Amino acid sequence: MFNSSNKSIAFLILGIVFLASNVCLGAEKKTILLLHSYNKELQWTDDLNNAIVQELKNDANITFEIRVEYMDTKRYEDSLYLQSFKKFFLSKYVNTCFDLIISTDNAAFDFLKENKVFFASDVPVVFCGLNNQIHFPENYTGILEDIDFESNLKLIQSLHPNSKIYIALDNSITGTALRNQLTPIIKTAFPNLNYEYLTDYSFAEFKAKLNSFTEGEVLFLVTFNYDKNGVSIPYDHILEEITPYCKVPIYGAWDFYLGAGIVGGRITSAYYHGLEAGKIAKKILNGSSLSDFKITSGPTKYIFDYRYIRKYDINEELIPDQAIIINKPENILQKNKTLFTLMLIVFIFLVTTIILLFSLFRRNKKALTLEKKYTAEIQNKQAKLKQALEKSREATSLQQAFLANLSHEIRTPMNGIMGFSDLLEELPSADTQVSKYVHFIKYNSRQLMNIIDDILEISLIETNKIVLDHKTININTLIDGVIKSSKVRNTESEAVKLFTNCSLSNEEAFINTDETKLTQILSNLLNNALKFTNEGYIELAYSVKGNDLEFMVKDTGIGIDKKNFENIFSRFGQVEKGTSRKFGGTGLGLSISKAYVELLGGKIWLESAPKKGSTFYFTIPAQFVKNEISKPSSPQKEYYWPDKTILVVDDEELNLLLFDAILTPTGLTLLKASSGLEAVEIFTENNKSIDLVLMDVKMPEMDGFEATEQIRAINKDIPTIFQTAHTVTFNKEKAQQFGVNKTIHKPIDRKELLKILKSFLG
Ligand code: ADP
Repeated sequence: MFNSSNKSIAFLILGIVFLASNVCLGAEKKTILLLHSYNKELQWTDDLNNAIVQELKNDANITFEIRVEYMDTKRYEDSLYLQSFKKFFLSKYVNTCFDLIISTDNAAFDFLKENKVFFASDVPVVFCGLNNQIHFPENYTGILEDIDFESNLKLIQSLHPNSKIYIALDNSITGTALRNQLTPIIKTAFPNLNYEYLTDYSFAEFKAKLNSFTEGEVLFLVTFNYDKNGVSIPYDHILEEITPYCKVPIYGAWDFYLGAGIVGGRITSAYYHGLEAGKIAKKILNGSSLSDFKITSGPTKYIFDYRYIRKYDINEELIPDQAIIINKPENILQKNKTLFTLMLIVFIFLVTTIILLFSLFRRNKKALTLEKKYTAEIQNKQAKLKQALEKSREATSLQQAFLANLSHEIRTPMNGIMGFSDLLEELPSADTQVSKYVHFIKYNSRQLMNIIDDILEISLIETNKIVLDHKTININTLIDGVIKSSKVRNTESEAVKLFTNCSLSNEEAFINTDETKLTQILSNLLNNALKFTNEGYIELAYSVKGNDLEFMVKDTGIGIDKKNFENIFSRFGQVEKGTSRKFGGTGLGLSISKAYVELLGGKIWLESAPKKGSTFYFTIPAQFVKNEISKPSSPQKEYYWPDKTILVVDDEELNLLLFDAILTPTGLTLLKASSGLEAVEIFTENNKSIDLVLMDVKMPEMDGFEATEQIRAINKDIPTIFQTAHTVTFNKEKAQQFGVNKTIHKPIDRKELLKILKSFLG
């Protein structure tokens, strides 16, 4: 059985066995012991602790568990206490295997050294805050808490040249050790230094001494925690005690003096000290060997308290550049740096926006002024254009009215000339000379009428007044008609053979198109071919090409140079200037033809070479009318109606004479009226016996429309044929409304008139 002391010995032995034999199996998580010499809440120890832990945590590679122990030797340092601590420590960590031990200050270092056997022999120990040590066991490394005396003395000298330096150093172990370090430094580095150690003083004497200091004297407080009577004042309270007595600048070398009354110095800072120790520990845990580290003094920094710099009016320019200044009041700008930066950005942004808006505003204003100017100009130009348009419209309607009148006025006498020429030509008594002259009159009249017709047509095309009149026609019949009328107009030349080539039979050749326009296109082309061909042949043909009918008028005449292909389709376009004199013509035929072809939905082109002849082609949509039965052409009958009576109305005496001449051979009884009124009167009287009315349109007092209306009021079925010289202004729709059955244009074509009459009279 063990008694109590035996028990402790047994316990210790057990502890030794356990701690020393514990094999660290290199667990992932490192176990670290941080053993502090002093207690918690001591600024120095807290700073060291925080810096070490912070530095260790700074490494993502290390996961660790830290055990922090405080020996509290500032307050308890007797051997009994230390013995108890040892027991407590060993019983606590009997089963713990440490990967690394960190010690702060001397007591912890000594404890570890003395109890080295308790720990595994290869556990690395990193120490810091260590004074007065020269022997270091194996596996120990770290940093010494040496004061940088040389830098501090140099600093005091530079800030207070020629001043006497009092160096406060007590008689404690630390004080004595420090003095032993300092004295040789003074001897070698500062042989002429004006200084005095303050050591053998009671606190009261010490305070009185300080009180006696005057200008030109400075205190360098190294350590004064014990007085000559052994009375102690903790190092963090000493300045509190002495500053009321000391009127001169005080310098110090430890950070726990900072803020408590010293101006500053080359400071040994617990925090930086701890950081350095943490760094070494980290490297060892990451695999560095202990031999990589040299035991050196810990880091020191120039640190100053701004309040005392100001208090003692110390020249700031002499303070080292890299110095840290504490307690310096931040100016508002620095204090609210972020706010100010933000405000500055906002300000710059606002100013830029305002400038931008202003420039935009100016630009807009400029643009607005320009816009106003241009709008005014545009409005002005529009007004002028409107005026011009009005004038042009006026001119166009004037031109149309003029052309319509011209047409009427020319057609009326031409009607007479051509009608009588026809009659003269057919007179059996006329001699050959007279017949020849009559023929000339007829030919030239026809030419004149053609020119008038062309000019009128062009005017209609240009004013978009052409209205198509589609109906079912037979192309073969139409071509026959075109050839016959061309032969009538042109002296047939034996040297020029004219033949046709129709690809469809009469039964197949029914299409839907505008008969008049198609006739005119073909007539123009054929007449040109006849006009410009002296020998050879002319061929008029057509064939079906896809959805189109392609017509061809080919001649072996004078031909056209390629360079004139475009020109001949323009208004008044002729190959040579003298063409009209030589061959006659106005240069309008092809441009009318082109317009008609395009209106019908086709196109026109030519192939030609000078002296070889020309081939004109054009297409129109092949709108065939299926199952259309060819109407047998009615057998030729004589135009003879001895039992019929017609009322002929015309205000021109000449025209009445012409009708008389044309219609007397037909056996018709003619009742003549030279005005609308007279026509109504005659009709009222002879209502029953009149079979048809041939009514002029334009008459003074009562025109053809009104007269017809009144006549129709008497007999609503009486066939009425309008005869008019107005090809342009004649209102077809109005005529239909008034029940007009047919309209014939002046100059009156005798055969056409007879045909129409036949269709009504039988
Ligand atoms: P016009 O025949 O009345 O002068 P056109 O417009 O019909 O007017 O023809 C324009 C011009 O094209 C003619 O003057 C002539 O120079 C040329 N031309 C037309 N057809 C032929 C043709 N078949 N052969 C040679 N030249 C032609």
